[in-house]
This record gives sequence, structure tokens and C-alpha cells, in this order.
Amino acid sequence: MRTTIVAVLLGATLACAIPTPAAPAIHVMLLDGESGGAYHAWQETTPYLKRMLEDAGLFQVDVVTAPPRDGDFSTFKPDWSKYQVVVGNYDAPDERWPDSLKASFEQYIRNGGGFVSVHAADNAFAKWKGYNLMIGVGGWRGRNQESGPHFYYQDGKLVPDPAPGNAGSHGARQPFKVVNQVTNHPITKGLPKEWMHVADELYANLRGPGENMTVLSTAWSDPANHGTGHEEPILMVISYGKGRVFHTTMGHDLAALNCVGFITTYQRGTEWAATGKVTQKVPPDFPTADKTSTRAAYNPPAGWNSPGGAPRRGAKQ
Ligand SMILES: [Zn+2]
Repeated sequence: MRTTIVAVLLGATLACAIPTPAAPAIHVMLLDGESGGAYHAWQETTPYLKRMLEDAGLFQVDVVTAPPRDGDFSTFKPDWSKYQVVVGNYDAPDERWPDSLKASFEQYIRNGGGFVSVHAADNAFAKWKGYNLMIGVGGWRGRNQESGPHFYYQDGKLVPDPAPGNAGSHGARQPFKVVNQVTNHPITKGLPKEWMHVADELYANLRGPGENMTVLSTAWSDPANHGTGHEEPILMVISYGKGRVFHTTMGHDLAALNCVGFITTYQRGTEWAATGKVTQKVPPDFPTADKTSTRAAYNPPAGWNSPGGAPRRGAKQ
């Protein structure tokens, strides 16, 4: 009898000691391997993008590095199905991927996979129809009016402007104010309506099909800094088949990544693209309408210089 009681008590104690199983980690593929130039140093930014997701406590991240521009793509067959979401820190021209690879990625997203396009990932694959449907709008690599209209916000509405012109521009890297145009989406819910982003490229003149695209946040592209005078899309969500896409144009270099606004929307956007929900709270150090906010944990290394050197402007990335 006594043995039974002890056994029962011991069993109860053990049951209490076993922690509640954590929610299963969201499996993320962080894709890198090429960029349009040394100014987009994916070898440098990928570890930060990886750590930002890991620090959110929800994600398990594998980095998948595509072969270089002269590499062999015949054996590059990522197992998309192992992941709920792919984060693109990758920018390559149309001819880089064989049709079979493009088809497998389209199928993965169409069947419900998630995709996150970070900064110059929206420069990639200018003529790949499926990719442009996923990202909604993009710039450079020969995009122009044939790629689709230039989308911007005006009088509280998204305007598709078909006027001819090249796609993709930005001024010098300066801090700028982001305005959340949609405040009830899981990614932007609870964030300040307006918040200051650190010095970064403010992408403008992006063009594309813009189908099934909701622009969550914009920023005013200042003509005094080679801008368009329009509220340009900064954060977007797009649906492609059953798949969800989160597109952020922010994040040129390590200095630009270290903005609590970027970090928070990137963490939330990745969760949303993977699951359709956001469980992460807004952090107390989120930037305000007149003050930027960074985290020491993501400061660039001592002595770091932006690999692009002096800020570029005009038609360059
Ligand atoms: Zn850039």
C-alpha cells in the first residue's frame, strides 16, 4: 500500500516537473548566395537575419546558400517542403535558375509555403512571372513599364501609375518615417501609426503586377533626396495561390538592419508568412514618430564600414 502511495506521489511529482511542451518551432530556410554587387553583402547580413529570427524564440533557421554565379545549379535542389517559410536574402538574374528549380519554388509557394523578400530580393528575377507575382513589385535588372505600373499611396489609396519609366530608385541613405497605412493586419497591429526607421535606402519607383497585394506601410520619397514625391511601399503582403508573402524593402546593410522597427516587422512578417498569425508582442523599445531605436546586440562589428562605401543614389541599388 505504502509503495503504491509513494509511486503515485512520485508519478505526480514527475508529471509536474515535465515542462509543457513548447510550440513546435517554425522551420525557416534563409536563402542566400548571390547579390547584385558588393554593396549587398549577403555573407555579412545573413548571420544577423538568422539571429534576429532565433532571438524571437519561435524559429529554427537553416541557411541554404545557392551556388555562385558560375556554379553548377544542376544539383541544387532545395527541399522546400521541409520549411514553412523561405526568407530571401538573395538577388540573382533570370538566367541563373533552371526552369525546373523555378517551377519547384512556384509549386511550393502556390501550395501554401511562405516567402519573405528582404530588401534587394525584390531586385531578383526581373522577368520570372511567378516570382514577380509573389513579390508584387520589384526594381532594377531591366524592369520598366512592361513589368507593371509604379504603385504608390495617394489620398489613402494605392495607385497603379502606368506612366513609362525604369523601375527602382533611391536617394542617399537617411533616416525616414514609416507610416502604417493598414493598422489591423497581424504584422502591423499594435505598432505606432508612424515610426522612424534608421538610415537606409528608401526604395521608390517599384513596378510589378501588384496582384493580391496589400501595402501595409509606406514612406514619403523626398524629391530633395532624389525621390518621387510619393508615398512609396515599404512593407507589403501578397498572396500567391495558397502561399503568403511578406515583402520588406528595408535592410540595405548592417546599419540599416539594426532598427527595432525593421527587426520587429521582420520577425512578425516571417511568422505571419509561415502561419498566417502573429503571436509576438510589440517590444517596448519600438521606435516612435520622431525617434529611431537600435539594439546594442545587433550593432555592426567595431570598425565596420558599409561595403558599398558612400551612399549611392539614383538608379543604382
Ligand atoms: Zn541596397
